[in-house]
Amino acid sequence: MKLDTRAMRHLAAEDWKVLTAVEQGSKNHEIVPTPLIEKLARLRGGASGVHKSISALAKVGLIARVKEAKYDGYRLTYGGLDYLALHTHASRKAVYSVGNRIGVGKESDIMVVADHSGKQCVLKIHRLGRISFRTVKSNRDYLKNRNAQSWMYLSRLAAMKEYAFMNALHEEGFPVPVPIAQSRHTIVMSLVDAFPLRQISDVPDPASLYADLISLLLRLASHGLIHGDYNEFNILVKEIKTTAEDGTESIKLEPVIIDFPQMVSMEHVNAEMYFDRDVNCIKRFFTRRFHFTPTQPGPFFKDAKKTVGKGGLKRLDATVEASGFTKKMLKDLEAAIKDKEGDKEGREGANDEEDDGEYDEDEDDEEDSEEDGDDETNGQPLLSDELSKGLLQDEPSI
Ligand code: ADP
Ligand code: MG
Repeated sequence: MKLDTRAMRHLAAEDWKVLTAVEQGSKNHEIVPTPLIEKLARLRGGASGVHKSISALAKVGLIARVKEAKYDGYRLTYGGLDYLALHTHASRKAVYSVGNRIGVGKESDIMVVADHSGKQCVLKIHRLGRISFRTVKSNRDYLKNRNAQSWMYLSRLAAMKEYAFMNALHEEGFPVPVPIAQSRHTIVMSLVDAFPLRQISDVPDPASLYADLISLLLRLASHGLIHGDYNEFNILVKEIKTTAEDGTESIKLEPVIIDFPQMVSMEHVNAEMYFDRDVNCIKRFFTRRFHFTPTQPGPFFKDAKKTVGKGGLKRLDATVEASGFTKKMLKDLEAAIKDKEGDKEGREGANDEEDDGEYDEDEDDEEDSEEDGDDETNGQPLLSDELSKGLLQDEPSI
């Protein structure tokens, strides 16, 4: 789903109140009855004002009428949730305008955005439900009362978890993007000026980059963490130019790790499997792409396990749990992500033979860049002038 912010500037304060009311009502209602929207929106103009806003919101696809229901009602769409999150980011001055989409996965959209000072950042929009509807059905036990809204719930969980880890890792000095803000299913972070490892066809010293990547993985482990998706898409490689005293220039490659919703603790029941999978993923990539095979076996989980928390190292798995993430939330998210992995393995398997270093999403991107080029909202402020001065949107609890 493409984020189209064009309608944002045209929404009035009342429309935002009604949109927020639909979101609030969604917590307990699959389809939010119109009288409840009226009640929650508490507009001065009363029911007629609410109806006007409902039509305006439905027209631009931020809410959708559900006809087959026993009662008249609306549900929030992904577009509606995107707008609410952007409204919050804009009110908190984390985002001023939205630019091009730079990445699209099955479970996320990555956009370049700018803040008030014009500094470019990255907005990651989690879209877990996009493929997980199927999963959600098969996981009814976990998500019993949430099936219709589970895309919202799961995407929000993914963003919360990713943001919590990004904060913890950043504070501990790991090379990760700088976390800036989180709202609902979205995160704002610094823009890393680097390409994913996947797009790099040649490096001067594969052994040294490999060693850096393995040592990062071991450093994570010593803080109690496994990345869980440590692959060439989730490692960005910065090129740092250095000049030695004698004037010779050289380029140092510095990895930056991204993408944390699936991180697991070294205490997880399947920790060894996740750890080995991360190690093997890097090994396989270095052999295939750079024809580099490490001489030493390992690293091995049992050795890494001994280093967890050693010498008073901070346990980041515990930090994140302490940040308000309940066991139930972790379980819900894990159930959804497991299915996402199954899906991805199928996809990667199919691509194996034609692994020629091309970026997988080229086709999609070409199509998009045309659309993006036409996008009149590029660089435009998100909210109308009146609103951008105004109200702060409350973030509902999960
Ligand atoms: P997904 O969960 O869909 O895999 P990622 O967080 O891995 O999403 O981001 C997808 C792609 O977007 C990355 O491979 C990278 O190219 C780009 N990207 C994501 N975050 C950043 C960032 N902070 N700076 C630069 N590029 C980024
Ligand atoms: Mg990724």
